[in-house]
Amino acid sequence: MGLKSLLKVAEGKNPANVSFEDKFIAAYSAAVQRKDKHESQGYPSDFFRPSSMYGCDRMLFFMRIHGGSDEEQADANLIEICDSGTDRHLRIQKIVSEMEGVKCLDLEDVVKEARQKGINTEFEGWNKDHTEARCKNADLSLYFQPDGVINFQGKDVILEIKTESTYQHANRYEPKEDHKYQVTCYGMGLGIDYVLFFYEDRNFCTKKAYLWKITDEMKAAVMNKVQRINAAIEAGVPPEKDESKCTYCKYKLECKAVDTGLWINPLLPPEKPIQAPTRRKKKTASNHTTKQKKPLTEAPTVATAKIKEAIQKSEAAYLAKIEHEADMEAIDARRDW
Ligand code: SF4
Repeated sequence: MGLKSLLKVAEGKNPANVSFEDKFIAAYSAAVQRKDKHESQGYPSDFFRPSSMYGCDRMLFFMRIHGGSDEEQADANLIEICDSGTDRHLRIQKIVSEMEGVKCLDLEDVVKEARQKGINTEFEGWNKDHTEARCKNADLSLYFQPDGVINFQGKDVILEIKTESTYQHANRYEPKEDHKYQVTCYGMGLGIDYVLFFYEDRNFCTKKAYLWKITDEMKAAVMNKVQRINAAIEAGVPPEKDESKCTYCKYKLECKAVDTGLWINPLLPPEKPIQAPTRRKKKTASNHTTKQKKPLTEAPTVATAKIKEAIQKSEAAYLAKIEHEADMEAIDARRDW
């Protein structure tokens, strides 16, 4: 729904003023969000997501202590951007499985082999379509879902598919740092040291592939990070922050509360509020005075302000999220001149 139409409804104006088209878009967005809520799979709160592993220690700490309890309903457009990525992943995986010289390894068997090497990974199971499988490793506190493991030219490699904007793709000369952290988690969980990154331009479907070896330094970096954050969770003390990674962090307020000493650990039982002693008042005529009701007109005003604030907040959050991509696309468009 367009902002103007939303505001009309928020201000208590006749919803009939909302245009036919805006109503349709609003109903569509609601359907996308309903579907997402129905299909979204949670993950256990005592594990890390490999895709976040490059993030700031303190952000990962917040993610863990809040678990899935603070998951906000995502914006419908963002849900569909992710869905498009998933659709593309599945098509690419299918083509790879049909390639000559490629053998797709069964993830369940890969996990069995990893266990024989002493790696404590468990196979959690396939999804309904048998296209995605999840694994977990309690020693590494990792819950993960690799795109696949293949054998090509005699080498076992983890396949990691990434779709990206044209600008990002044009400037892709090596795997992204956060993607390296992500696949290092997979490699440690599966006992495989090679990764084939397969980057695709979202608009033109051009490809770049990089064979990358997970180094011992990367494994140590991931292990140290896991141990640092687990120790911080155990102690209930937020770890060091890294302000170079704040852009997409949704814990900015909570992070500030840590810096100002006002942070309260949600995992601890709430402290009883200290009640100020009250004197018993003698009943007087004034005590019996009926409380004046707030004028009825105030309720919608407060509600409207709250809705306006929520709209502005969600717009600001969305803009911040897409700003980077939008910049990239704008620059790209100029380059085409
Ligand atoms: S706001 Fe920045 S420093 Fe604070 S937790 Fe988030 S990423 Fe870390």
